[in-house]
Amino acid sequence: MAYLGSERWAAFRQEIIDERGYECERCGETEPPLHLHHLTYVRMGHEAPSDVELLCPDCHDEADEEREAETGGGYDYDDDDDDDDDDDWD
Ligand SMILES: [Zn+2]
Repeated sequence: MAYLGSERWAAFRQEIIDERGYECERCGETEPPLHLHHLTYVRMGHEAPSDVELLCPDCHDEADEEREAETGGGYDYDDDDDDDDDDDWD
């Protein structure tokens, strides 16, 4: 699957940023890089805007832990720790 870094994902990410502004949705951080965090993977590949959250790296870590606690950690695409990647899609 060549979804990571796909044009569709980049366009979707841009749409979210245009709509919400380049700002962490939890703490208001505006310093790049901000990450698009998946609240759920149920619509993987055709996400709804409500499926994602724009977060700074700190809040992203927290959000990942929350999701892991909720899903029991058994369903996680985040197998490489590339938090310094500006286009982190996790
Ligand atoms: Zn934040």
